[in-house]
Parts: sequence; structure tokens; C-alpha cells
Amino acid sequence: MSKDRLPEVLEKWEAVIGLEIHTELTTLNTKMFCGCPVAFGGEPNTRVCPVCLGLPGALPVPNARAIESTILAGLALECDISSWSQFHRKNYFYPDMPKDYQISQYDRPFCVGGHVDVEMDGAESVRIGITRIHLEEDTGKMVHVGGSEGRIAGATHSLVDFNRAGTALMELVSEPDIRTPEQARRFASQLRLVFLTLGVSDCNMEEGSMRVDANVSVRPHGQAEFGAKAEVKNMNSFKALHDALSYEIVRQADELEAGGTVAQETRHWDAGKKRTSSLRSKEFAHDYRYFPEPDMVPFTFDDDFIEGLRASLPELPDARRARYARAYALPGNDASVLSSDLGLGAYFEEAVEAAGGPEMGKAVANWVLGDFSAHLNAEALLPADSSVTPRKLARLVQLVGDGTISGKQAKAVFAEMVATGEKPRQIIERLGMQQVSDSGAIEAVVDRVLAANPEEVEGYRAGKTGLIGFFVGAVMREMGGQGNPAMVNEVLKARLGG
Ligand code: ADP
Ligand code: MG
Ligand code: ZN
Repeated sequence: MSKDRLPEVLEKWEAVIGLEIHTELTTLNTKMFCGCPVAFGGEPNTRVCPVCLGLPGALPVPNARAIESTILAGLALECDISSWSQFHRKNYFYPDMPKDYQISQYDRPFCVGGHVDVEMDGAESVRIGITRIHLEEDTGKMVHVGGSEGRIAGATHSLVDFNRAGTALMELVSEPDIRTPEQARRFASQLRLVFLTLGVSDCNMEEGSMRVDANVSVRPHGQAEFGAKAEVKNMNSFKALHDALSYEIVRQADELEAGGTVAQETRHWDAGKKRTSSLRSKEFAHDYRYFPEPDMVPFTFDDDFIEGLRASLPELPDARRARYARAYALPGNDASVLSSDLGLGAYFEEAVEAAGGPEMGKAVANWVLGDFSAHLNAEALLPADSSVTPRKLARLVQLVGDGTISGKQAKAVFAEMVATGEKPRQIIERLGMQQVSDSGAIEAVVDRVLAANPEEVEGYRAGKTGLIGFFVGAVMREMGGQGNPAMVNEVLKARLGG
């Protein structure tokens, strides 16, 4: 499929990508300009009032927490916060937008500038500029009945649900600094992690509380001007974003190589067919007739207010990753993975604490990223929902650390913990799994094994030190796998001589 041609196409063409990311502030209790509750789903048209239904004479009251959330996002991304800001009316007609205009922001957004340093594996990070972050209200939702997948084509009639109408929507626009689908995916996922860390949204792409539109064009390498861009919509996962961009870059390059042109248009990503198709032309700029919202005064923010918000910022993902690497002496990749999932990170920190502190960090990380993550994936669980609590995992790590069981036995114990929910101690006792760390017992077996294999002993002493594995294996077999491997090695080496 065309996606596989991406590397080849990118040798000849440079892709230019800018993202527009809409995030519903789902963690607020109420909508942007009224007191209606914010929640996914609900009986259609039950979470509405005169304001969000756009009834004549209804007056909007701005949600202070929505504005604070947006400014927090701006501070987290190192934007400049406008000293004064205002809402504008953006006039256009959508059947799911009750007022026939959207309250949005125009030339005075809350946040401008800013950037995200996108981490690329094994390469330098790439700095992607943020143009602006502003606040607006979401539309309702149309349901097209009789067609397929909610598309208009083939539908016999349409229904409208205003429950979502008026929900606070934060829009972030990036600079056209992104050059590959992979950078785009990582940029969006790092932003999501920042928003989750700030607690401003659940950022659920499948439910549409985080929606990424991708603007993409191609140009020959070395050309300064941008090519004509297409705007791709309807990607409901990071993978879809990556796939849609990959498809679109190849499509545009093919079009240009065939002597054609790229139409300035909005395109729809079809995840089933894995291709984009034209939705509507964007050739003529829409005139939204923006004007300042007359029902609200402009906002001014003094330094105290902004510095107060800055002081309330939680530990951000970059700082968390650096702390994991530093405090627990973790390799960069471990620190990245653990800090990029809030639930897993919290689980890890709790387990390290329970295991005895930071020096247990690497041992705990190995389990959390290894068997524990595999178990979560296999059962589609969140870390907090696993029957293997941080405390139980910590206990298991300790039992390996103090030599009670071997690493290999611990894997079997972990599998039992998953299956039965028991504590590691109980399992070890039930299965009679104690590791033998009694030096007398180990020495006795080692002596027996050496006496039974005089040729190998001679070979080892003559320099074939690789035979150590043979001896360890033989001792372990005699001990039913329960010998403490470190001690077995030590005793063998002592007996065999250096
Ligand atoms: P529009 O007026 O079509 O909405 P904007 O100038 O507002 O376009 O930009 C929207 C998004 O498109 C931004 O993220 C911007 O970085 C990106 N963008 C602008 N021009 C291009 C281009 N030629 N190719 C790819 N992305 C672009
Ligand atoms: Mg735009
Ligand atoms: Zn309302």
C-alpha cells in the first residue's frame, strides 16, 4: 500500500505539516458560558439550557476555570499570555450550532508563541512552534440516520443533539514546523500528556474530546515556499493521524509528479479504506465576519494572576522524565516509557516506595515495564485496576532481592499472582518454592557435581572457563532449580580455583 512508499517519497519531497488540535475541557463541571453539566453521552438534548441552545436574549457568562485551564496549558508550553484578551463571534452556519455563530477568539487569543520539543528515538529532539492557544465553544452533534457510519451520504434524515453544544473547547494551532508523520504523532501525543498532566481534559480521541486536524503539503527539498495544503480530518487515534498523513503525503507527491496540482481542500480520513477523500474545497477563504462578542467585556490579566497560575503548575512530563532518570538511575528509555503514562508512572512510584526507596528503582522498573506491562496489555487493564497492587509487586521484588527466590522463580510467582490475586509469600509457601541459600547445602551439591565430572573440571582449569555454564546447569538440576544462582556461581568459582 502507498504508505510503504513514504520513505522513498520523502527522499524527493519534503512534507510540511501543521496541526490544529481541539481539546474539550471535559474535567470542568460546566460548559463554557452556562451552568449545564459537561459529560460524554446522556439522553440527547437533556444537558441544555437557553444559553447553550442560543435562545434569544440569553446571556453568556464565561467559565473562569476554562480560562485558567487554557492559560495553564499556555504556561506549560511556554507561551506568552496576552495581557488582555477577548472573545469574538465567528459567524457561520452549521445545523448543530444553535446560535449560527460560535463564540471563539480572533486576534486576541489567551496564549501565543510557545513550543514543544518532540523527542525522537536516538536522534535530536525537534522543536515545534505553537502559534496560539485559544478558547471557544464546541458545537452539538448531528446523527445521520439511514446512511452508513454517520456520514451524510445515503442518509434519509438527520437528528441533532445539543448536549455537547457550548462545552469549552481549547484550540491549539501549531506552526508548520512538522516534517514527518512520526513527528506529528509524537507532537500530538506529547501535547496530550501535558493536558492530561494538567488535568484539563480526559483527551479521549475515540470519544472526540481530543480532535486533531492535520494540514499537510509537500514541496521539493530546498524550495522555500510552501506548497498548497490539504486539511485532513477525522483521525480518532494517533495511529490514524500517522497513517492519514503518510497516505496524504504520497498522494500529493504522486499528483505533482504526474503534472497535476494539489487542491486547497478539506479531506476526510477513512480508517476502513485507509485513504483520504475530498470533503469540501477551501479554495475561497470563508469570510467569518469576526467581531468582538458584545455580551462580554475584554479580559485583562495582571502579573499576580498569571504568576499564581504558573506557581500552581504540576510537575510536567519533561521534568518527570528527568526526575525518573535521575532519582532512580533509570536508562533514558525506561524513564520515557514510565513518565509517558500517568497511571503507570504513579504505580511505579508507589511500588518503589513500598520496595524500600529509590535504590530499588531499576529492579522495580524492570518488573513494571516487563511482566507487569505484558499482563496489563493481555487483559486490557489500567495499572490501578490490576490485582497485582504496587505493594504486592514491591514485595515480590524484595523477595528476589534478599535471595528468597530466584529471578526465574519470581516469574512463576508473578504469573500465579495474576491468576489468583494471592500475595507472593503465600504462593511461595504453597508451591514450596523457597530458594536454597544455605551455603552448606550448596557446597555439598557442588562437590558432588565436580566429583562426577572430572574431565570437565580439568578442562575448566586448563582455561575452558565457558564450562562454568555446564556446572551451574548441573548444580541447578540437582537442586530442582532452587539454588540461589549467585551463590552457586560463587561456590563453583571458589572450588574450581581462579
Ligand atoms: P487556514 O487559514 O487554512 O486555516 P492557517 O494559516 O490558519 O490556515 O493554518 C492552519 C494550520 O495549517 C496551521 O497549523 C499551520 O501551521 C498549517 N499550515 C499553514 N500553511 C501550511 C502549508 N502550506 N502546509 C502545511 N501546513 C500549513
Ligand atoms: Mg485556521
Ligand atoms: Zn447550557
